[in-house]
Amino acid sequence: MNDFQTLCLELLEWEGALFEPQGENCYQMLSPPHVQQALQLPEMSRLTFDANLYTNPMEGIGNALLSIESDSLDRLGTLLTQKGKHLRLQLPESKFFTDLSSPPKTATPVKLNFQNATFRPQNFSKESAWFTLVLYRFIAVSEEKREGLLPLLINETTGVLEERTLSPLLEFLKDPGIFQQEEKEGGYDVTLSSPSSPSSPSSPSSPSSPLPLPQILTHIEKGILRRIKNTLCPFFQSMERRLEKDHQRIRDYHQDLLKETHLKFGALKFRSLKEKQKHSEWEQKEKNRVEAIHREYASKIEDLRRKYAIQLQVTPVQILRFVMPVQRQVVRVMRKQAVRDIFLDWNPLSKKMEMPSCEGCLKFSAIYSVCDTHLHIVCDECFAPCPQCAKNICRSCSPKGCLKCPPL
Ligand SMILES: [Zn+2]
Ligand SMILES: [Zn+2]
Ligand SMILES: [Zn+2]
Repeated sequence: MNDFQTLCLELLEWEGALFEPQGENCYQMLSPPHVQQALQLPEMSRLTFDANLYTNPMEGIGNALLSIESDSLDRLGTLLTQKGKHLRLQLPESKFFTDLSSPPKTATPVKLNFQNATFRPQNFSKESAWFTLVLYRFIAVSEEKREGLLPLLINETTGVLEERTLSPLLEFLKDPGIFQQEEKEGGYDVTLSSPSSPSSPSSPSSPSSPLPLPQILTHIEKGILRRIKNTLCPFFQSMERRLEKDHQRIRDYHQDLLKETHLKFGALKFRSLKEKQKHSEWEQKEKNRVEAIHREYASKIEDLRRKYAIQLQVTPVQILRFVMPVQRQVVRVMRKQAVRDIFLDWNPLSKKMEMPSCEGCLKFSAIYSVCDTHLHIVCDECFAPCPQCAKNICRSCSPKGCLKCPPL
């Protein structure tokens, strides 16, 4: 039995359905009313995972085929409703992490590089940090379709998009024991909760509360487009290549048409004025033809634009929020007379110090600038000068660009 079959059967069993195997990949199923309603099947039905074994329903007995592409799978999904979409978890220090009462050896003061500011690292202190892991599903549709999942992890306190912690975290979460040891460890707070419900701190070290989820999602969305573009890079490149090829073909064809017309005009020039007047009607016709070629070319380019436009749909499908102990360092950033304290954590999962990400686009940069208004830490692109007034614009303060100049 593969993972997909196990998942489907476990879900149906959880919902109260009973099974009796009927050969390989086939089951007799007795289902309660809500499952019957969801799957649109009678009480007694035959469930198969093999399209070759699927036969049309007989009277009184329903047949359902469960495969990745079947309609029954969508119906099965309705049984899940909101279950499993949001999970809150507390990772206790004792079992998984070393003692964080003092900074670990790898928690060295962070080295930052600012173009226009100075900084001073302060002491470390033991804190608890809330993290949010969001699994996004994206669908890109153009001439072809691509879909996939993209996990993004954010440290809520520091606002850092934690890429280096993602792999150890996903590895860590593969251990089913994390979700089942509530009683044994006594420190787990595994609850399915609605996205905006307040937290229930279950240990003295828990921070007061996590941030509201919409605020977190808005923050993460700053960096999502660029990451999806990176993930879909071969797809975008292939679309660009095909667009360029089609464009070239249309351009060549229309250029040939124009060349032909110009040759005729060229030939006309060598004739006498009298002859030319004779041909004025023909000349007008050719001019109309040139205009028609230009119009057709513009319309073909518009068709190409529509054909290769990429529509991107991004939806958060699963959210895990967890709190865990960290060693936090306060870093004082100084720009002219202004001062701002930022937080950077030593993360016990990655066993590394977090590096700040740009507050405009969540990208990591080797060098940052600091804005005058709120002392945001921004990358070069997010602190680029306005093309009209040449003033540096902080994309974290003004995501839509310069507020003083009209949009170009
Ligand atoms: Zn940026
Ligand atoms: Zn401007
Ligand atoms: Zn700013």
